[in-house]
Amino acid sequence: MNNIKYNKIKWCLGCGNYSIINQLSKVLSLLKIKKKYIVIVSGIGCSSRLPYYIKFKGVHTIHGRAFSIATGIKLSNKKFNVWLITGDGDSFSIGLKHLLHTIRRNININILIFNNGIYALTKGQKSYSNYNNNSFNIIALMLSSGATFVAKTLYNNPIHLRKTLYYANKHIGTSCVEIIQNCPIYNNIKNKINNIIYLKNNYKLIYNNKCILLKNNKPIIKNNNKKFKNIWIHNIYNLYKSFLLSNFYIINKKLPIPIGIIYKKRKYKTKHLVCKKKKYNIENIFNKNIIF
Ligand code: SF4
Ligand SMILES: [Mg+2]
Repeated sequence: MNNIKYNKIKWCLGCGNYSIINQLSKVLSLLKIKKKYIVIVSGIGCSSRLPYYIKFKGVHTIHGRAFSIATGIKLSNKKFNVWLITGDGDSFSIGLKHLLHTIRRNININILIFNNGIYALTKGQKSYSNYNNNSFNIIALMLSSGATFVAKTLYNNPIHLRKTLYYANKHIGTSCVEIIQNCPIYNNIKNKINNIIYLKNNYKLIYNNKCILLKNNKPIIKNNNKKFKNIWIHNIYNLYKSFLLSNFYIINKKLPIPIGIIYKKRKYKTKHLVCKKKKYNIENIFNKNIIF
C-alpha cells in the first residue's frame, strides 16, 4: 500500500475522515519530496486532529488560524510541501478572513476543507456550509477571493479523491479542495449524495441519462439525447462558467452537485516571499521540538 506510518487514530468508527487520511497518505507516498519537507497544519475540529494520526511534521493550531501558520511555514522555506487541513466550521466561521486572504495571496500551499456541514467536535451544530438556503456558497466565495485552483471531491470516491489531491498539489499557488465528508454520528449524508455530476475538462456535462444545456446563460436539464448541439462542455479555465457551476444548487435545486476541478487559472504570476530572519526559521523550531 504505502510506507506512511500512523499513530493510533481516534475518529469514530465509520467516519469519512478515514477515507481522506488514507488517500492523502497514498498521495504523499507518491510524491518525490523528502519526508522532512512535508508539513501538515490544521486548525480545530475533528478533521484537524489529522496531524496527530500521520507521522509527518505537523502543527495542530487554534481555531481558524492554521492559515497564518501554514503561510508562515511556507514562507520560511519554499521547499516545504504544506498541507492545510481544516473543517467547514473552522474555515468558514472564525477562520473565514484568514482563509480568504490566504487565497488572495496565492501562496503555494494545499488547503483541504473537510465539509460535513456541522461542527462535529462540539456535537453537531450546523455550520455555515450546510448547503441550505441560509449557508455560504463556499466554492463561489473562494472563486471570488481570487482562487487559482478550486475543486470539489467526495470522501466515498477514493480514486476521485486521490486524483484531486494529486492535481491540487501539482498546482503552483493556493489549491482549494472541498471534500464532502460524512459524519455518521451527527450528520449522516451517506445516502443523500446521489444527485452529482463528475466534471472533466473538455467533456460534456452528462450524468444519469441527463445532460445540461446552457441556454441564454442559464443551465437547463434535459434528457440526454444526441440531438442537442448545445450541451455544456466543461472548461476548467472559464471563470464565468465556474461561477455558474458553483451556483447550481441556488439556481435550481434539481441541478446536480458538480464534482471535480471547477476552476484553474491559466496564467498568473507567483512570487515566493521568504522570511530571512533566522530566529523565525521554522526548521529550527521543528528541530528543537518546541511546543508552544
Ligand atoms: S464526530 Fe463525526 S466527524 Fe467527528 S470523528 Fe466522529 S464521525 Fe468523524
Ligand atoms: Mg465540520
